Amino acid sequence: MKIERIEHIGIAVSNLDEAISFYEKVLNLTCYAIEDVADQKVRTAFFKIGETKIELLESTDPEGPIGKFIEKKGEGIHHIAFAVDNIEEALAETESKGVRLIDKTPRKGAEGLNIGFLHPKNTMGVLTEFCSNK
Ligand code: ZN
Repeated sequence: MKIERIEHIGIAVSNLDEAISFYEKVLNLTCYAIEDVADQKVRTAFFKIGETKIELLESTDPEGPIGKFIEKKGEGIHHIAFAVDNIEEALAETESKGVRLIDKTPRKGAEGLNIGFLHPKNTMGVLTEFCSNK
């Protein structure tokens, strides 16, 4: 497995429009895409900083993963995503090293990426995502 870069940082927000306004008006970044990910019960907004993105996540369902996260912990950093060269191999290698996976096989995430999450119990509380465009 080779981690190539931090692909994005996922941030849970209660109100996507207000959050976009902060990133655009205060931080002078530009939102280049807004996407509904029905599977994850979220609406996402993307900003690019160099090769890394900020992914804002607003829940569309209180029972979804972001809805539950915000209820428990409030707004804040939700996950960190690493771009890997081969996601199947990265997940298999990680599992073989004794780490519990949320996704044993990759699924489709925002922007058409193949994604897979590791379990935060095994990653010092940081929900960790692998992603790959292959
Ligand atoms: Zn993500």
